[in-house]
Amino acid sequence: MSKAVILTSGGLDSTTCLGLALERGYEIFPLSIRYGQRHEREYKSINDVIEYYQMSAKVRIHNLKTVDVNLTAIGGSALTDKTIAVPVNRDEKTMSSNIPITYVPMRNTIFLGIAAAYAEVLKADEIWIGANNIDYSGYRDCRPEFLESIEDTIAVATSDCGISPSWVRGFIEGEGCFSRCSYDVTEGKKYYPVFSLQQSDLASLEKLKKFFGGRGHINERKYVGKSNISKKQSWEYRLTYHEAYLVYELMQGHMKNEGKQEQLNQWPIITDNKYFDEEEVRIKFEEKGIKLPIRIKAPLLHLKKADIIKLGIGLKVPYHLTWSCYQGGDRACGVCDSCKLRLAGFKEAESCDPIPYD
Ligand SMILES: [Zn+2]
Repeated sequence: MSKAVILTSGGLDSTTCLGLALERGYEIFPLSIRYGQRHEREYKSINDVIEYYQMSAKVRIHNLKTVDVNLTAIGGSALTDKTIAVPVNRDEKTMSSNIPITYVPMRNTIFLGIAAAYAEVLKADEIWIGANNIDYSGYRDCRPEFLESIEDTIAVATSDCGISPSWVRGFIEGEGCFSRCSYDVTEGKKYYPVFSLQQSDLASLEKLKKFFGGRGHINERKYVGKSNISKKQSWEYRLTYHEAYLVYELMQGHMKNEGKQEQLNQWPIITDNKYFDEEEVRIKFEEKGIKLPIRIKAPLLHLKKADIIKLGIGLKVPYHLTWSCYQGGDRACGVCDSCKLRLAGFKEAESCDPIPYD
């Protein structure tokens, strides 16, 4: 069972993350950061949500860990400086036109740093964050490249396993599709395992290279035929020992399942995108005494608010206990950006928001 530290704020997105992680069978360590928000209301929601999940049977959710970081000392946001007013009654176009004053400088970096510290102590496999790149398109720290970069940084800081998260991303998330693996590179007298991919489209090769953290190189070879000279581009990526070992083992299993045992005499050829199950990969590594770097998961990153709500309703997420409003009070204001996005999301999902509004 994979262990996940889940950043939770008692809001709609992070509570949906909790529901999703529980459904996927994770052992969950909820983490909340008190950073000096305008109001205490959301802490009630965080506690209510955790209590709700802990009461339900058959789930593994540990007690909430709360860390205090006083960002009011820095301010610069309507959420951490009470002298700055929370904007209200803005339409969707205005909301997405530039970064709102409710943006808290470097909040996700700080949160993920704290979550990584907790994950390192727990030897957790993943950190989950309810970041979303759709509704708050102006938030730079919700961009996928930000999350990838933090994942890489955490690996440099915490892991010595010789396997980079970019490799895991490329391999597991299927963006890199391997067509061939062979021992065909010599250096001195040693042979190194190499993945190579033939492709005419240089842009895809560049993309693949990026996925592997810039490792690997692109070759261009000329082929002289009877009547013409053609160019072929290929990308080659030299595997580390551990990567080669794992790939070979996984390929063996895969090929056996597909009835392609005979191809195992050579390094196997994979003809189409193969998505590997991350837990399977992790367990295989652990059997060899290797702990993969901590992964950051943002499962809601590309979902619209309405789709997040639909997902959550399917997972029976206790939305009635959540709190999204930027203002304090017993009832949500209904007019701040967060309330407006939430209400619009429920409407689009053809559902009713169960919390009371002014
Ligand atoms: Zn509100």
